[in-house]
Formats: sequence, C-alpha cells, structure tokens
Amino acid sequence: MDLSKSIDSAYKSFTEWKKVPFADRQKLLVKLADVLEKNKEKYAEIITLEMHKPISQSIAEIEKSAGMIQFYAKAENVLQPEKIKTEFDISDVHHDALGIILGVMPWNFPFWQVLRFAVPAILAGNVILLKHASICFGSGDEIENAFEKAGFPKFIFQNLRIGHSEIKSVLENPLVRGVSLTGSEKAGSEVAALAGKNIKKSILELGGSDAFIVLEDSDFEKAATEAPWAKLQNTGQICNAAKRFIVHERVEKEFVPRFIQEYNAYQPADPMKSETKLSKMARPDLADELESQYKKALRNGAEVVLALERISESEFRPGIILVKEGNPILQEELFGPLAILMIGKNDEEILKLANGIPFGLGNSVWTKDKRRAQFFVDNLESGTVSINKVTSSDVRLPFGGAKSSGYGVELSLQAIKEFTQIKTVVGN
Ligand code: NAP
Repeated sequence: MDLSKSIDSAYKSFTEWKKVPFADRQKLLVKLADVLEKNKEKYAEIITLEMHKPISQSIAEIEKSAGMIQFYAKAENVLQPEKIKTEFDISDVHHDALGIILGVMPWNFPFWQVLRFAVPAILAGNVILLKHASICFGSGDEIENAFEKAGFPKFIFQNLRIGHSEIKSVLENPLVRGVSLTGSEKAGSEVAALAGKNIKKSILELGGSDAFIVLEDSDFEKAATEAPWAKLQNTGQICNAAKRFIVHERVEKEFVPRFIQEYNAYQPADPMKSETKLSKMARPDLADELESQYKKALRNGAEVVLALERISESEFRPGIILVKEGNPILQEELFGPLAILMIGKNDEEILKLANGIPFGLGNSVWTKDKRRAQFFVDNLESGTVSINKVTSSDVRLPFGGAKSSGYGVELSLQAIKEFTQIKTVVGN
C-alpha cells in the first residue's frame, strides 16, 4: 500500500471538502444513513463473520450507526463563528477543520466505533484515514464503499489496509493533523506518545472495568434481570460493559441467585442464528488471555460463583467470580464472558471499591433514594454515571472516559468540535 499516495489524495480532497457548507455535508449524511439501512443485513453478516458477534446484535449495531448519522444530519451547526463582546468591531471565535485525521479502531464494534468517530469529524470538514483492527479489514472496505455510495467526494474516507507498525509513518506525515484511537491502554499510550511527539491532537477511548452498584433499596429484581445483558452483550467484549457487580450486603441473598439464574440463560451458540445471545470470542488468543486472567484471580483468592468453562478454542460458558479488595485482577480489564462480584457493607465502602481501579468509563448505580444516588454521582470517577439503568452510549450525550479509560469526547454536538482548530479573529 502506497501510504504517501493515500495521504496526498486525502489532502487534495480536504482542500475542497472544507469549503463545502455544513448543510450540504449534512445532505450527504442523510444518504449515508440510507445506505446503512438498505444494506444492514449484508453489513451485519460481514461483522459476524469477521468477529463472531451474534447476528441480531450486528444488525442492531448497523441500526444504531444509522441513527447516529441521522442525528448529525439534523444537528445544529455548532461551528458557526461565536461573537464575543469586546471594544473591537470584530471579535469572533472560528472553528476550522484540522485536515486529515487518522482513526485507529478496534474489532468489537467494527462499524459503530469507526462511524462514531468519523461522522462528526467529517461533518466538521475533516477527511479520514482508517487503520482498522486487522481482523476487520472487510468491514473497513464496506464503510469506505458506503461513503462512496452515498455520494461523498472521493478520498473523504479511506480504509488503509495496514498493520499497526505503520501508524508511526502516518502520524509523522505533516499533512496528518490528529488521531483518534479506540482500543486497549497499551495501544492508546503508544499512539498518543507518537501523536505527542509529532505535536498532533489525540483522542483516546480505552478500556474499562465499570461497576454496576446494587443498593438494598433498589428495584433489585429489575437490576438482576438486566445485569447479565449489561455484562454479556457482545460476548462480554464491550469497553463500558458492567464488569464488576458491587452489591450491598443487605441485598446479596436476594440479588445474587436471581442474577445467576438470568446469567445462565446466556450460553454460546451459532452466531448466525437470530435467537443467539452469546457467541465465541473474537480471536482464540483473547480467549487464552481471559482464561489466564481467571486462573490469576483464583490464585489470588477469588472464589468461583459460576465456573468459567472453556468449551472450544474461543468459546466459554460464562463465569462469575467473587473478588475481594486487593486482588490484583482488579487492576485489569476482563474482556469476555467473566464477571466480578463484590460485596460492600455501606455506601462509603461500595464507593471505595468502585473507584479502586485504574479505569472509569460508565458506572451504574441502582437505588430509589435520590440522595444516595447523588452521593455516587458526585464521587464516582467515570465519564458517565447511569442511574437505575444499564450504561450504554447515546448519540445525544457526550461519551468519554476518566483516568486510564482515555480522554476526549465522542458523540453529542460536542464531538463536532473535537477535531477543529479554534481561530480568534479580532480587530476593526
Ligand atoms: P487493541 O488491540 O488495542 O486494538 C485496537 C486498535 O489498535 C487496532 O486497530 C490495533 O491494530 C491497534 N493496535 C494494537 N496494538 C497497537 C500498538 N501497540 N500500537 C498501535 N496500535 C495498536 O484493542 P482491541 O483488542 O481491538 O479492542 C479491545 C479494547 O478496546 C478493550 O480494551 C476495550 O475496552 C477497548 N474499547 C474501548 C472503547 C471506548 O470507547 N472506550 C470502545 C471499544 C473498545 P491491530 O489489529 O493491527 O493490532
């Protein structure tokens, strides 16, 4: 692949695209959403073939992506110059597109993650180069084709079929002005270091180990019914999935058996069947890693609540372990069908358990008491706090992480400004 040719083509495309009015860019987004809707079965099948997500969840991913694009197609133009009152005739704040933005994306939502970053950036006047996860190059090609089918100018969005060792040379090219990475902490810190060295903007959307907090005054039956989905959707391979269930000791006896019963309904099956809720993991090495984390947790004192059982190269019967504070497994992300259960004595202790990890994406709290909810809202260290609901991203609301879960904002109107340059214009 001739990288410098792709970058030059992207730059030529940018010099024209940045002149296109915001409203005209939005007309093309309407068409892009249509392309996704019309091809959703085809795209979903590619997702499932590449990373094994159950087909109903792949279809839901395409539908959610189309909905997100429609939101931006109708969004207010937040890039219009802002007028500030000063003694000068002109004192305006402009937001100019940066230029070429690189996306380094993961396999767990092959369409959603890419489009969630690319669409607001393109709406702002930027152009995109994609370095997709190596098992999702087919999805990357289809996204590039979708932009073409929708009538976007050529080279607005290019899928580079490159390995991650080639990211360095892309970021060193002066025409590339920023990078957005969704993935692991390791990949994020390496790419952000490269961006920093080359003085380029970066956004990081990294891992998580979010808490699902169940207090004794909550509707714990509802919580127990929804908890398994919060963890096991996409076979447990979601950044902001509930990964640690922290339960008040006064509701443990009621919540835990119900939770296990509902959790057991998720058993691996053929991902192409519409009724399948759980599938195999995306790659066998990821299953190896999850199994070794399970053993590590047990070696360090975790107790088996429900055994994690490996039934093939990449398939598990999902497991649950009871973990106490101090177990080193709490410093890691369990990216697969293995949940952590923790028991807390009171709100202070539960908060301490929830915050005692390196990550912070989307904790959720279940309680009927508004004052107790507020205590957690004020003190939880995460980008999102959900109350009496499972955490999930919503295009209308900002999404991002705290601590080692990353920085920067995706989704909402705010994301349109992420890859823009503020330019102050002042005088008479
Ligand atoms: P990953 O291994 O970090 O890969 C993500 C992307 O980074 C891929 O394109 C990968 O390319 C590239 N990459 C891997 N190692 C790299 C390195 N050393 N330097 C530069 N680039 C590198 O992550 P994953 O396994 O695909 O995805 C799972 C992780 O993503 C989890 O930690 C999950 O929590 C996180 N995630 C976060 C969010 C969020 O919004 N916060 C959303 C989804 C997923 P190759 O495939 O070529 O290695």
